[in-house]
Amino acid sequence: MTTEAALAIDLGGTELRAALVDRDGKILAFSAVPTQAQAGPDVVIGQIEALAATVHAEAPAITVVGVGVGAPGPLDPLAGIAVGPPTLAGWQDVPLADILERRLGLPVRLENDANAAALGEWRFGAGHGARSLVFVTVSTGIGGGVVVDGRILHGRRGLAAEIGHMTITNEGERCVCGVVGCFEAIASGTALGRRANAATSAFDGSTLRRLSANAEVTGRHVVEAARLEDDLAVALLEEEARWLGVGFTNLLHLYSPDVLVVGGGIANGLDLMAPVIEATIRQRAMRAYRDVPVVEAQLGRHAGLVGAASLVLFDDGNLAARMPVGPSTYPDIRRDFKG
Ligand SMILES: [Zn+2]
Repeated sequence: MTTEAALAIDLGGTELRAALVDRDGKILAFSAVPTQAQAGPDVVIGQIEALAATVHAEAPAITVVGVGVGAPGPLDPLAGIAVGPPTLAGWQDVPLADILERRLGLPVRLENDANAAALGEWRFGAGHGARSLVFVTVSTGIGGGVVVDGRILHGRRGLAAEIGHMTITNEGERCVCGVVGCFEAIASGTALGRRANAATSAFDGSTLRRLSANAEVTGRHVVEAARLEDDLAVALLEEEARWLGVGFTNLLHLYSPDVLVVGGGIANGLDLMAPVIEATIRQRAMRAYRDVPVVEAQLGRHAGLVGAASLVLFDDGNLAARMPVGPSTYPDIRRDFKG
């Protein structure tokens, strides 16, 4: 019996990764190259073809049944069009799914990378067995995806669940999107690092500056110092946990997931933040929402790959037939994503 697998592509702004993934979410072959993000779509699509050949050569006995691609938004998952990702130069309304179907001779599904990661955690990771899940990544920014009743929530033009840009306060630094008070602007790893830098200075002898070798302090340094029971780092992480708790409370009220899964660089401090996150949720959420577990993601950097693979491996309504709408322009979407 031949093993069936999907070819999964994770098209990142810095790294392009490919894998063969079987129906158990197991990675059978893997390869990655730096994305030639400035070289335009033709070159990058050539990179995808080459990488597909590389992973297939690693496991030649595998039957590849289709291709799942996770790519940065904005994109139209139904039409399979990359609308204009800010991290990839020259990608305006590229019908990526159609192009790859022609070049690779296989059915192709395209999904927003955060949605693909949510799908991966839901199908194979920390959300396994849940009917509904909210996945939040907290790193440089805040992103995520929502699975409701077993399906990715797409919304109009695939733009649903822009978690990082929900307004949760009216203070603080301006967000990359241009406004004040976004969840991302106040609770991302970048925001945590910014507060840590403001509270310390180079060569002040603090644990944080010692860990950063007197350079910029990052969110990761705060987590590291809090593990050493440094008072300042513990206080900074508590503040971070309160903001996360506020944002998570909104997500519980909006989507009523069975589980809220946290990934990204700051998730490795989730155990330290859990008491304050839970206290904040208990304080702010209505009673019926308070017992939803907040757990750490399990798949790490592979969440997006296995999620993209599951788009073609499982007929769960997430792979509704693509609608052949010709390449079109979405000027208003691009304006919204100027960050
Ligand atoms: Zn914003």
